[in-house]
Amino acid sequence: MTYDDLAPRSQELFARGRAVTPGGVNSPVRAFRAVGGTPRFMASGRGPFITDVDGREYLDLVCSWGPMVLGHAHPAVVDAVQQAASRGFSFGTPGAGEVLLAEEIVSRVDAVDQVRLVSSGTEATMSAIRLARGFTGRSKVVKFAGCYHGHVDSLLAAAGSGIATFALPDTPGVTGAQAHETIVLPYNDVAAVEAAFAAHGSDIAVVITEAAAANMGVVAPDPGFNAALARIAHEHGALLVVDEVMTGFRVARGGWLELEARADATWRPDLVTFGKVMGGGLPAAAFGGREDVMAHLAPAGPVYQAGTLAGNPVAAACGLTTLQHCTPELYAHLDATAARVGSLVSEALAAEGVAHSLATAGNLFSVFFTAERPRDYDEARTQESWRYAAFFHAMLDRGVYLPPSAFEAWFVSGAHDDAALDRLVDALPAAARAAATAHPDVAKEYA
Ligand SMILES: *Cc1c(COP(=O)(O)O)cnc(C)c1O
Repeated sequence: MTYDDLAPRSQELFARGRAVTPGGVNSPVRAFRAVGGTPRFMASGRGPFITDVDGREYLDLVCSWGPMVLGHAHPAVVDAVQQAASRGFSFGTPGAGEVLLAEEIVSRVDAVDQVRLVSSGTEATMSAIRLARGFTGRSKVVKFAGCYHGHVDSLLAAAGSGIATFALPDTPGVTGAQAHETIVLPYNDVAAVEAAFAAHGSDIAVVITEAAAANMGVVAPDPGFNAALARIAHEHGALLVVDEVMTGFRVARGGWLELEARADATWRPDLVTFGKVMGGGLPAAAFGGREDVMAHLAPAGPVYQAGTLAGNPVAAACGLTTLQHCTPELYAHLDATAARVGSLVSEALAAEGVAHSLATAGNLFSVFFTAERPRDYDEARTQESWRYAAFFHAMLDRGVYLPPSAFEAWFVSGAHDDAALDRLVDALPAAARAAATAHPDVAKEYA
């Protein structure tokens, strides 16, 4: 018997959902296709725990893919959202909340002089690319295989996240013309970037990279890689967009860029994108950067970009209050908790002789089921992801909710304390055993 038998309401809702929504979900990885089984429909969350519609409670190591950095239903955030909502939901005019949120972001990130608020990470990267093209008058975009920047047409080539999960080479619906403008290079390969600029330098508008890649599992940039991207792009008159949608305000007060600046403060990206944590769980995202580049954005400049709900007052209150609680103490807690979870998992797998590697980028981490820690997408894809499916289900059965794909990062929050981690400690030995004894068809068992 598995947890699936104990999830009758999730099964019923999944069946009804499939009738009215493609695949029964509103974002593909949620459907559990990479691990098999029935996705759990969650009903509520408090602190480090989430509870499904069948009343089962799980320790949450997904945290809504990052935004719930303070844990679920943090009282101060709930209060701020309720107060904002009681004043009305949306006016289609400027408001104080969006100024406060923009000021908070600008104060945290040196590279950001000005910021424009949008509603999703996808919108942030799409708009940043358009702005970079408008600013440079060029068309080509360089991206890295395995990096995910949302479902922007020109950025879906060799993307991570759900694209990695489903091993989709490309997606129908993206035209040849859009794909033609995108140059996909291997991550952490400076020579490949030099070569691409040598061949196409005067046509390249922008290089976009995840601040630290975390959508093919976590693959940290080699020391100096991001700095080299800035140098090469700038030598050729192109811009660098650093995508901090996942890392921003999670790995440090000023995001991954702050961690890099502590080691080498001599370079800067031109534009930076944000999402996830900055919305605190409501739809809010942003892109920002150099003042002279941002000045090209409408209405100050000619590059058009807009949003009916951009800077929404309820989302801005949620994001601002969340960021105000992202203190040095919180980051110390996230760092320590991520390190503890990572070493507990690694010890349990080692005890069962399971080949694996723990990959980290600040407090972001994931576990690869391969002995060598990957440096790029090709290496990441060599992992035995079927072992992850067995591991995932054994954890789910024991009340621990992991990302339903081996190609996603794990997340902790300020609410993940020792008592919460006890559940992980209890679940790990059996899950490690399941990973050790798994066979490649394991996902079908849960189908
Ligand atoms: C999640 C993510 C996005 C997309 O954000 P959405 O809000 O899902 O559109 C973009 N870039 C990175 C690095 C992400 O992790």
